[in-house]
Amino acid sequence: EAMYMECIFCKIISGSIPSYKVYEDELVFAFLDIYPCSEGHTVVLPKKHIERFTDLDVKDASDLFASVHKISKVVSKTFDLHGMNIGMNVGEVAGQSVPHVHVHIIPRKEGDNGGSMHSIVETNPDTGNLADLAKKVRESF
Ligand code: 5GP
Ligand code: ZN
Repeated sequence: EAMYMECIFCKIISGSIPSYKVYEDELVFAFLDIYPCSEGHTVVLPKKHIERFTDLDVKDASDLFASVHKISKVVSKTFDLHGMNIGMNVGEVAGQSVPHVHVHIIPRKEGDNGGSMHSIVETNPDTGNLADLAKKVRESF
């Protein structure tokens, strides 16, 4: 399995750097974020060292999300959550600081004053061209 000695998440998976593990199987590893946005903030990663979500093959992406689905339900139940934000920072420009694919599960409770996906970026793009944009994407598959 691809593993990079310089990668902090590969070191966590191998156990050479300790972590507060919450789940592990043959394909994924999940632990508590040491700089949590909220109590129970969990990070889920494929054991394979791949930098970007978009570089995963469809099988690895599917397996990752199956695990995120399973783990998020348990985290929600364990901490009695009202909701969660589940997502990824893909690429440095989007805030990805560790170049090993990972999904954040961020617990949410009423009154926590948090935002939504819409609070990540707001460039006020044109909305008169949505038909053209959608067509452009459809034609790129
Ligand atoms: P990113 O910013 O790349 O999307 O997410 C990386 C996450 O990993 C951050 O939320 C950061 O707090 C967390 N993190 C970075 N280094 C460590 C570490 O050594 N241990 C743990 N448990 N989390 C880490
Ligand atoms: Zn890695």
